[in-house]
Amino acid sequence: MYKNNIFYKIIKKKIYSDIVYKDKFFTAFRDINPKAPIHILIVTNFFIKNINNILPIHENILGKIFIVAKKIAIKEKIHKRGYRLIINCNKDSGQEINYFHMHLLGGKFLGSII
Ligand code: 5GP
Repeated sequence: MYKNNIFYKIIKKKIYSDIVYKDKFFTAFRDINPKAPIHILIVTNFFIKNINNILPIHENILGKIFIVAKKIAIKEKIHKRGYRLIINCNKDSGQEINYFHMHLLGGKFLGSII
């Protein structure tokens, strides 16, 4: 039941989180266990479990997530130095929370992951 999901509770403000951005489709908040000086999670306001559950009707809305990421990067002043966007899907990626989200990481040299 997605209503028990921690990210859903954060969106609904049932659990506190440091929310840095909100609009009709997305909420963004700081990761509780940051892997970089700036580590923000951008989540959909409606439930999608992970990339495997994305449907054609989500196409237009999910395209906007890049605009949101860019806006936050500018607000956090990391856009010029650069940043990384990550979306995990299922076990091999290490997806821990079963609620679609994009990680925005920056504020230091992140190195290479591949
Ligand atoms: P995943 O591995 O699912 O892609 O990433 C989940 C992320 O959510 C992790 O980086 C983890 O630190 C973060 N996280 C887990 N629980 C909470 C929470 O209660 N609040 C916040 N702000 N972040 C959380």
